[in-house]
Amino acid sequence: MKILVINCGSSSLKYQLIDMENEKCLALGLVERIGIEGSKLTQKVNGEKFIIQEAMKDHTDAIRLVIGALIDAQHGVIKELSEIGAVGHRVVHGGEKYAQSVKINDDVMKILEECSKLAPLHNPANIIGINACKVLMPSVPMVAVFDTAFHQTMPEVAYIYPLPYDLYTEYGVRKYGFHGTSHRYVSSKAAEMMGKDIKDLKLITCHLGNGASAAAIENGKSVETSMGFTPLEGIAMGTRCGSIDPAILTYIMKEKNLTIEQVNDMMNKESGVFGISGVSSDFRDIEDAAWKDGNHRAQLAIDVFCYKVKKFIGSYVAVMGGVDAIVFTAGLGENSPETREQICKGLEFLGATIDNAKNNVRGKEAEISTDDSTTKIFVIPTNEELVIARDTLELI
Ligand code: ADP
Repeated sequence: MKILVINCGSSSLKYQLIDMENEKCLALGLVERIGIEGSKLTQKVNGEKFIIQEAMKDHTDAIRLVIGALIDAQHGVIKELSEIGAVGHRVVHGGEKYAQSVKINDDVMKILEECSKLAPLHNPANIIGINACKVLMPSVPMVAVFDTAFHQTMPEVAYIYPLPYDLYTEYGVRKYGFHGTSHRYVSSKAAEMMGKDIKDLKLITCHLGNGASAAAIENGKSVETSMGFTPLEGIAMGTRCGSIDPAILTYIMKEKNLTIEQVNDMMNKESGVFGISGVSSDFRDIEDAAWKDGNHRAQLAIDVFCYKVKKFIGSYVAVMGGVDAIVFTAGLGENSPETREQICKGLEFLGATIDNAKNNVRGKEAEISTDDSTTKIFVIPTNEELVIARDTLELI
């Protein structure tokens, strides 16, 4: 069976068509600027690009174009729409309702709408994507796979904030955690690479991309993670500040006379390594500025980022009473040996020592710790689309 995986944003849409016979990605693509002038679809098949530049007024138009690209006589990978057996949707927030993926029906749609309150920037776009697929492929079964689901196993002590308790009961204010699909994938892959049952392992997974989060995974269950009520908490990220003293907000709002929207933008779009360096949110630019131009603020941004990740690793060792392996994934985690080395420096007391030669790896699965490390260190490229496709297949 072939499964279409869709990750719908407010003005963009990523997709993959996966053949579940061999779990091979047949085609992947990105639709950009949906509903905005200059919209475009880029599809890649075996590394070859196919671009369609066409006006798209909404997500239904975008998905119609995706289907068109997939069945295109010259650049497509299937002959007709009926070859798509199911659609798996990435949905950001499943609230407390979903600890697992779910087959989509009308009742599920109602709950997804309710969860939109908790993720106003993400869930509405995910819902639009689901509805657009319903219009274009009414008889194809669909599954929702949530970013939050994997972290629903966190104990109360980890997810309750020290705030008035009714903020939790009345408003759903608690830690949910995100990147769950990625943490789940790389943790099970790490167990596989260690030749052990995940139920016997204590793992720390570090998803370091534009958004960054760490998770403590004990016996295959997430017991703690760095993102919280929203994906803003935790590690300093590309443009997000991560955890800060909350009193800074009221102070700076008063001093600079900022509105809620302005302070929200400041924390989400103008902070993190971009805010510190003033150079870029992309680590490649920051590394260049720091190492080629000797830019102090760029170096500081890297140092702060690595320091934050290291602090989470240390605290998760305490939470689990040990660690068997540390895993790095996502854009930066997979591709920056220097960042991995800096984060792990000083963790030798845990029995985790990076092997510099083995660490010289990019975008590939690898064990990068020395042979005598009692705590293993891995690089594992994440594959959220594959998890979504597998869950979809299982549920339909
Ligand atoms: P997203 O959270 O948007 O999915 P990714 O996981 O794709 O992000 O990670 C994107 C980030 O990864 C980039 O902003 C960049 O900082 C970092 N990155 C990607 N490749 C490299 C590289 N070769 N060296 C250093 N950093 C890299």
